[in-house]
Amino acid sequence: PKYQSVSLIVGVTGIVGNSLAEILPLSDTPGGPWKVYGVARRPRPQWNTDHPIEYIQCDISDSDETRTKLSGLQDVTHVFYVTWANRTTELENCEINGKMFKNVLDVVITNSPNLQHVSLQTGLKHYLGPFELLGKVAHDPPFHEDLPRLDAPNFYYTLEDILFESVKQKEGLTWSVHRPGLIFGFSPYSMMNLIGALCVYVAICKHEGAPVKFPGSKESWDCYSVCSDADLIAEQHIWAAIDPYAKNEAFNISNGDVFKWKHFWKVLCENFEVEDGGFDERMSLVETMKDKEGVWDEIVREKGLLATKLEDVAAWWFVDMILGGKCMLDTMNKSKEHGFLGFRNSKSSLISWINKMKGYKIVP
Ligand code: NDP
Repeated sequence: PKYQSVSLIVGVTGIVGNSLAEILPLSDTPGGPWKVYGVARRPRPQWNTDHPIEYIQCDISDSDETRTKLSGLQDVTHVFYVTWANRTTELENCEINGKMFKNVLDVVITNSPNLQHVSLQTGLKHYLGPFELLGKVAHDPPFHEDLPRLDAPNFYYTLEDILFESVKQKEGLTWSVHRPGLIFGFSPYSMMNLIGALCVYVAICKHEGAPVKFPGSKESWDCYSVCSDADLIAEQHIWAAIDPYAKNEAFNISNGDVFKWKHFWKVLCENFEVEDGGFDERMSLVETMKDKEGVWDEIVREKGLLATKLEDVAAWWFVDMILGGKCMLDTMNKSKEHGFLGFRNSKSSLISWINKMKGYKIVP
């Protein structure tokens, strides 16, 4: 056969989905040559069209639509599940995310007889608890995979349980779970893209001649932080899909170094040729950046950027939450012990994603 493996990326325009769509079709990717299907709701955006994949527009929260659009795929060998839905309460998150995942798995398991592996991405909220209980129920960091589940609702637990049940339906079907922390990546369609939002923030400050102040807390300015490069996460997904020692396990995934925001803020500002405004006092970007849609439209027009909506490229709530938080280090020991030795230099990672945002004309 022309292809050795056939993947279905669910959330193909997301922060990790777009990395998977870029890496899987490459000729030297393990397990390849890969045929790639990718699913998302919106029409395929221009910045995703470079990747040689088959794009399928489908809302996986709709079970009829999922059956209609995905039951024709009968050659899928690997599923990479890199999507989610965000509702008001965690109980609602459990319901909607469970439904979406089940809709996809039911169709693929039924229709693709050669299905071998399902790779599910969750995250460090596995150890922190849901957004609504942040700071209340978390384990003590550094987080490792053997920690017991927290006694709180968590859609990640719902997804895992669906995964564990679903693989039983087919002899030999394996799974892996991937738990990144804060992701450094590219997608303008991501619900949580911190670097993207920070680039937009700096661009708006620069345009208005305002100082570029760190909006977070003193604690997050000073403490050691870790992050997870989107390409590195994609590499771990692919490793787990292929390597027999990675089967039926959950793995943390972070770059393998530590950084401080007070150092990275300088790097961010340098890359936009603005003065580092430093830390002054905690402020909410949800507050200070509200009503900036017009300013953003003006910047987009003036600089000839790709048309984007401010709400799509700048999740201020996420910046407020991440930079307002405490340190939450994880450990990569288990992943390394199982044979995944990938890493990234987080400063290079930061700069490369800023350059990609500029290169695709998302920010000036
Ligand atoms: P993103 O928000 O970056 O991307 C979501 C993708 O899924 C997009 O392609 C989106 O496109 C698509 N999508 C959303 N809803 C649907 C739907 N109903 N049907 C079909 N496609 C859909 O996802 P992430 O990679 O951020 O999230 C994956 C997991 O990673 C989540 O569990 C998240 O909590 C976790 N995580 C994320 C972190 C981060 O920093 N981003 C940090 C740690 C963990 P479209 O909108 O066009 O449908």
